[in-house]
Amino acid sequence: MATDSRTTHRYDVAVIGGGPAGLSAAMVLGRCLRRVIVIDHGKGRNYAACEMHGYLGRDCTTPAEMRQIGRREAAAYGVEFLDGVVAGVCACGDEGKDFEVTINDREPLTARKLLLATGVMDVLPEIDGLTDFYGRSVHHCPYCDGWEHRGQRLVALGDGKAAIGLALSLRTWSPQVTACLNGQAISRRQRQRAQKNGIACRERRVVKLAGSEGQVRQVHFEDGAPLECDAVFFSSDQVLRSKLPLSLGCECDEHGLIRTKGRQGTGVRGMFLAGDADGDVQFAIVAAAEGAVAAVAINRELQDEDRGEPRNLLNAAPLAEVAAKAVNDGA
Ligand SMILES: Cc1cc2nc3c(=O)[nH]c(=O)nc-3n(C[C@H](O)[C@H](O)[C@H](O)COP(=O)(O)OP(=O)(O)OC[C@H]3O[C@@H](n4cnc5c(N)ncnc54)[C@H](O)[C@@H]3O)c2cc1C
Repeated sequence: MATDSRTTHRYDVAVIGGGPAGLSAAMVLGRCLRRVIVIDHGKGRNYAACEMHGYLGRDCTTPAEMRQIGRREAAAYGVEFLDGVVAGVCACGDEGKDFEVTINDREPLTARKLLLATGVMDVLPEIDGLTDFYGRSVHHCPYCDGWEHRGQRLVALGDGKAAIGLALSLRTWSPQVTACLNGQAISRRQRQRAQKNGIACRERRVVKLAGSEGQVRQVHFEDGAPLECDAVFFSSDQVLRSKLPLSLGCECDEHGLIRTKGRQGTGVRGMFLAGDADGDVQFAIVAAAEGAVAAVAINRELQDEDRGEPRNLLNAAPLAEVAAKAVNDGA
């Protein structure tokens, strides 16, 4: 049975990040009668998108609306919310099994389990005008926004080979695709692949996107005539939104994302991670699903502990040990 810790400041679970992953986990845990707090500073990855697509049951909802609905649904099961930035986490309590969560300008709180749902952020290409259209007619994910621009004049913008890869993918949604290589050379093989698939190439560095009211109309190059278009998709890097997963000893993959083990475990005892910050498919619905998976794993650990039968299914090490190693390794 769930412990009733409502008279203390100790939570069963602290969820850091209130996007689809964190909210979904919080709702499942609330329904397990756990005392849950979600701490979020409100900078979701898809802040610029005018609609969220492909989320079964909530297709075309705005990101803000989706969060409001998620908060309302989780709150109905007693989940608490705190708007703030988590600055750090350290081990505390009996044998260092609990987590002390430090939130900027507030009293720290403690939790028996921790879920990191802190997401990633995209590094936008530094091109004049791009942010005027981002999320409306300039996108990075064909799965999220390709359907809305099906059959239109699409631009795949990236450095050389990356633009060709993106252009090849975009051919699923339109026969009119131009790869803008942004001043980077491509191999003869890449050029042949483009030609074979009816993809035109523009070599020059892109300096500006132009249009009006959120609708991109032209790509401008350092020299030569502008390219008329209806939508631009770009390839870009992404980084973890928060350094917390690394400072707490989570392991990185080759893309700088977090490697999870088993059911969203991190290798740190009692600490889980869900959503875009791990290396899985980066859709909101996948993030929400991972949140639910993590919630079940967390609740099982709590159930075992409540019965006095703690297990260490994921072979995880205590936070103090793992985090100390992360600091020594320079994370
Ligand atoms: C422009 C754009 C359009 C997209 N469109 C779609 C779409 O149509 N369909 C789709 O399925 N997916 C879409 N995505 C992908 C989708 O946004 C992500 O898959 C999803 O948001 C991941 O959810 P998450 O919970 O992992 O992270 P996020 O939604 O990014 O939430 C993470 C939260 O953690 C908070 N946080 C981070 N660090 C801290 C900290 N230290 N303290 C407190 N809070 C913290 C952040 O403020 C943020 O609110 C789109 C992405 C972009 C960029």
